[in-house]
Amino acid sequence: MNEKGFTIDFGSTEPNESTSAPSTGTGAPAPTHSKLMIFGSGPAGLTAAIYAARAQLAPLLLAGYEPGGQLMLTSEVENFPGFPDGIDGPDLMAKMIAQAERFGAVIVNQDVDRVDLASRPFRAWSAGCEFTADAVIVATGASAIWLGLESETRLRGRGVSSCATCDGFFFKGEEVAVVGGGDTALEEALFLTRFATTVHLIVRRDTFRASKIMVARATAHEKIRVHLNREVVEVIGETKTEALTLKDTRNGATERLAVGGLFVAIGHKPNTELLGGALPVDAAGYLTVKGHSSASAIDGVFIAGDVHDHRYRQAVTAAGDGCRAALDAERWLADHAV
Ligand code: NAP
Repeated sequence: MNEKGFTIDFGSTEPNESTSAPSTGTGAPAPTHSKLMIFGSGPAGLTAAIYAARAQLAPLLLAGYEPGGQLMLTSEVENFPGFPDGIDGPDLMAKMIAQAERFGAVIVNQDVDRVDLASRPFRAWSAGCEFTADAVIVATGASAIWLGLESETRLRGRGVSSCATCDGFFFKGEEVAVVGGGDTALEEALFLTRFATTVHLIVRRDTFRASKIMVARATAHEKIRVHLNREVVEVIGETKTEALTLKDTRNGATERLAVGGLFVAIGHKPNTELLGGALPVDAAGYLTVKGHSSASAIDGVFIAGDVHDHRYRQAVTAAGDGCRAALDAERWLADHAV
């Protein structure tokens, strides 16, 4: 959440037990059958909706009860092209929603409960309603794994972040901490040395999970200070992050570490539960695509964004991926004359 709080009304965000067609952001009832159905409303899903809507496919986008994806948890976004002065994450998502609706995308702010992709038309159930479509784009994203502390949740966007690329710039001249011992944490720590005076790397065991080369690079860096056998047990601060309480995992002793930022880098989880195992995943649980395309293992089902991309994980790469999936779906629908 940003410091100004959210002021955007995306329509109903409450579960709806009614079995009648839910209303959409524009107030019109949602169609029960569409040519294209999109799951997920981050930059990938919304860009797919913009492209598909401009191609006259009138896509139905099931956006979830908390539409907008991970950018809703970000304050200022300074690396999305076209916004030289930066833009708040929620404002950027509101613009994408308005752009998709302008061309005829139908957006329903409900979670997908389950799907049936075994035969066509594909089916999805959401809050008691059944939706069908000739083609589907899965753009459900990935969620950062958090430590689970109350203080961490309260100070998210106020010094606590899960993305150094997005937020590192705001910590120029400050001391920051990164928690995690995997490749992501070390990559984030190295990136943060560009801005921070000292980067404290908090690792819960006496060893790293990351690759040897990354460990060598990080531990040799003059700005990175490694704290092994330490857990973050509290983020201290009222309106912004001021310090951490660290606990020694060997003897339980606690200490205070003054930092202006905490970057949590303990992994991401792709949001694939709703698929119920219908599509293949890689060793880390991310959906896989066929070759240089967005095609999934099921004909007519396409994939976009962080739910399959754990390498780049940027708003702009997810948006590009959404464009690819919409183009692939459009061509597939034309070829199959449905
Ligand atoms: P990861 O490899 O699963 O590492 C997660 C790290 O966070 C581990 O050190 C783990 O500690 C720690 N951790 C987990 N839960 C924690 C908790 N509650 N409190 C404190 N620490 C906790 O995740 P990742 O670093 O995001 O990497 C994911 C995959 O992407 C990996 O295969 C990685 O190699 C790959 N990746 C590659 C690159 C690259 O090649 N450039 C960059 C980034 C990521 P334990 O070890 O004690 O479990």
